[in-house]
Amino acid sequence: MAQQEDSLKKIISHCKEYGFIFPSSEIYDGLAAVYDYGQNGVELKNNIKEYWWKFMTRLHENIVGIDAAIFMHPKTWEASGHVSAFNDPLIDNRDSKKRYRADNLIEEYRDKLYAKIDKEVEKAAKRFGDKFNKEQFLSTNEHVLKTQAEIDELTARYDKALNSNDLEELRQIIIDKEIVCPISGTKNWTEVRQFNLMFQTKMGSVSDEQSTIYLRPETAQGIFVNYLNVQKTGRMKIPFGIAQIGKAFRNEIVARQFIFRMREFEQMEMQFFIKPGTEMRWFKYWKTMRRKWHEALGFGTDNYRFHDHEKLAHYANAATDIEFNFPMGFREVEGIHSRTDFDLGQHQKYSGKKIQYFDPEMNESYVPYVIETSIGLDRMFLSILSASYCEEEIKGDDGKTDKRVVLRIPPALAPVKVAVLPLVKKDGLPEIAEKLMKDLMYRFDCRYEEKDTIGKRYRRQDAIGTPFCVTVDYDTLKDNTVTVRYRDDMRQERIAIDKVADLVSANCDLNNILKHLADEDIALPEE
Ligand code: ATP
Repeated sequence: MAQQEDSLKKIISHCKEYGFIFPSSEIYDGLAAVYDYGQNGVELKNNIKEYWWKFMTRLHENIVGIDAAIFMHPKTWEASGHVSAFNDPLIDNRDSKKRYRADNLIEEYRDKLYAKIDKEVEKAAKRFGDKFNKEQFLSTNEHVLKTQAEIDELTARYDKALNSNDLEELRQIIIDKEIVCPISGTKNWTEVRQFNLMFQTKMGSVSDEQSTIYLRPETAQGIFVNYLNVQKTGRMKIPFGIAQIGKAFRNEIVARQFIFRMREFEQMEMQFFIKPGTEMRWFKYWKTMRRKWHEALGFGTDNYRFHDHEKLAHYANAATDIEFNFPMGFREVEGIHSRTDFDLGQHQKYSGKKIQYFDPEMNESYVPYVIETSIGLDRMFLSILSASYCEEEIKGDDGKTDKRVVLRIPPALAPVKVAVLPLVKKDGLPEIAEKLMKDLMYRFDCRYEEKDTIGKRYRRQDAIGTPFCVTVDYDTLKDNTVTVRYRDDMRQERIAIDKVADLVSANCDLNNILKHLADEDIALPEE
């Protein structure tokens, strides 16, 4: 655990030191759970967006994009259920005055029970060596069975309390399990209350004309209210999808773990409209598709897993999370939900407008069903940084052991693709380097650097994940070749200066990953 926290801390300070992410309004000591993206962060973020946007809107002929406003008519949030049901159960500790999510306290307690089992397994594996049979151990060891029984009993009680919105029972579980406040160490808890996560503001300049409006807590509703506009003007035929990237806001009770849980964040959502009755097939299809999109980045399939939901949101009849192996363990990066006709049906009811699709094959109209894929851009960003961050021991210029931090970001997503470095600031080398820079800069994000030793300049580029450094030296004057230095294995090779653009393009082109995905022919699964 301490090691995991340590690696998250390293990523946070690296992000700050190298211009990826800064705390918001830092000169005023920051604002809780709000962050700004710096000069390198914004490039990486834009590249992730491009990867997602092109995958959705270019690789799928039947998916188009929109960009809806953040402010929406307040009725939207009544219809969607957010005004009445977008709540988290909160509990306060009277001694520390700290506020917690009651569900999180119980889940963390349960995680500790799971960790207890893992420890028993680890101990036994050491004791029995090659003869260790994990399955057998799990099904026979007395301690493990007792802990597992406690987990099962707790899970059943917890799920029932959540599903029936039984706040007293949630509190009773916390009392019965003797869960203490991590700060004060006491069990002096208040009642559990519901807390609505939507930010409110007022619209209008005259106070008696003002109306309460909300900052959208998800981008999805902007898509639903535009369903008819897009379907009609785009002459879309079901099945079809609408994609959107945009900001969302949630007044999270406990916002922590850096950009994993923020109060202002960005979502990339796609709502796929389908014929009622086909939702389980499309749900499976999008599960497969989205996992492939993640895995195509090459971080290893073991770093992803599905977590199917037992407790479903009020609008869903099936849901799964794609979880990524973050420094703090496996956590949700994307949700895939079968939202039925709930949202369109509700908007039809609240607006009094018919929101339907006339199916020419069936010769009848219906409210389409929806499969949603919803990914947090900031969480995706954190997943990429945590999988890319490496500390390595290397041999320095002087032969001594040195350390380097390298971000092995997939080249297509790297903020800077190529750094152009004249060996020295004289003898005509900067002029050649600047000319090369001019040739490259309109095609790729490039950096030009002439300060410090070449070794130091390489280290700085490693730290922001630049896949290629190109050094212009005295040999360049003689034969028009340059040294290309590769980020991952630090290999160096000489190539002709006019071949640099081709090399960068062949290795950093996002279209290579997209092409690989486009070639995967995934059929719509049977029931
Ligand atoms: P969680 O259970 O972690 O609160 P959620 O299930 O409420 O997340 P969704 O409503 O399904 O999340 O939102 C879709 C995606 O938006 C999530 O998979 C996540 O990547 C992202 N997301 C949600 N809340 C936040 C947040 N507070 N900060 C950053 N990203 C978020």
